[in-house]
Amino acid sequence: MRDEGIENLLTRHRLPDPVYVTRPTMPELSSYHSHLEEIWRSRWLTNDGRFHSEFEDKLRQYLHVEHINLFVNGTIALLVALQALDIDGGEVLTTPFTFPATIHVLHWNRITPVFCDIDADTFNIDPTGLERRITPDTKAVLAVHVYGIPCDVEAIQSIADRHGLHVIYDAAHAFGVNVGDRSIVKYGDISALSFHATKLFTTIEGGALVSGTERERERIRFLKNFGISDEEHVIGPGINGKMNEFQAAFGLLELELVDQEIENRRRLTQLYRRHLEGIKGLKYPNDVPGVRHNYGFFPVLVEPGAFGTDRSRLSDLLRLCNVFPRKYFFPLCSRYPCYSSLPSASPGNLPTATMVADRVLCLPLYGDLEESVVKTICGIIETIHTETTKR
Ligand SMILES: *Cc1c(COP(=O)(O)O)cnc(C)c1O
Repeated sequence: MRDEGIENLLTRHRLPDPVYVTRPTMPELSSYHSHLEEIWRSRWLTNDGRFHSEFEDKLRQYLHVEHINLFVNGTIALLVALQALDIDGGEVLTTPFTFPATIHVLHWNRITPVFCDIDADTFNIDPTGLERRITPDTKAVLAVHVYGIPCDVEAIQSIADRHGLHVIYDAAHAFGVNVGDRSIVKYGDISALSFHATKLFTTIEGGALVSGTERERERIRFLKNFGISDEEHVIGPGINGKMNEFQAAFGLLELELVDQEIENRRRLTQLYRRHLEGIKGLKYPNDVPGVRHNYGFFPVLVEPGAFGTDRSRLSDLLRLCNVFPRKYFFPLCSRYPCYSSLPSASPGNLPTATMVADRVLCLPLYGDLEESVVKTICGIIETIHTETTKR
């Protein structure tokens, strides 16, 4: 192996400061400060305060949706979505190629996750494999728009309709994504958003549920506030999922920045694509015609034979250069000890997901990442390819 040679070569490319996979856009501190002064004056910290209602309104307009509920985080939002649809047992068809929260919320609702394989191009649940996994216990499909790439929403809906299943979308990555001129969060019964600090649009921690009807929205409103309907009535077993005023005030300011953030990421994504084009053994998703993408992530798939080395070695070598990519999502959720003994968790059942999880690496991407840094990262990757394929 020529490993030591590469490592020496790469010291030339080492960046002075660490470059992480993402970094949040921050609003003007003075703007947040004046919101804080208002919170201090009113002493209204949470429970439907003025920032909460304004943020909910603005978000409704931005997403072009009618029925939305804000949450303290995306995981509690997903947990409540299942409760709102009365899914608290049985089986739910889902994807192993996701963040742990997607599957854990099933477990917390005493639902058995049934892992289905993904599509190699979209990384999303493959609708062609769904129908044969349906049993009399199947209650719903919980699909994820991974990296903000839309699921095959039409195919999933028609299968769900044929079998009387609910459809829930984990849209944690899909803020601002439209299919045609329709927001992606308008598909399915309920969509869940996450506004965690690592997401494109953030309220520090936070999330939301978008539902199809006002009735559902009302139900979710009770569920996220202990089931309280008024001072003397608790109408069901709810939980505390409320977003507070500090989050909502932050979100209001972030909302003014999000279109520029998406535009900056679009430009950097194109730069990555231009500079990585032609390196053998690397693949990355391209824009889907008719879709407004949000460029939340820049995933690349490394085919070790053609590239020269595998994903993990590439990741280690980038780290030597002060670049910190992430293996989103490795390992698959089906490999966690809490789920790996499920019949649907066997790698043989999930060949595409297994292959993608073994090859994927998300490169740094955020709005104020410098173009020169993107070029340096691409240069490092090219050097590694050249060095590992020459003999
Ligand atoms: C971030 C994320 C979540 C969880 O959201 P939190 O707001 O961090 O609780 C759920 N699903 C996916 C796919 C995510 O990436």
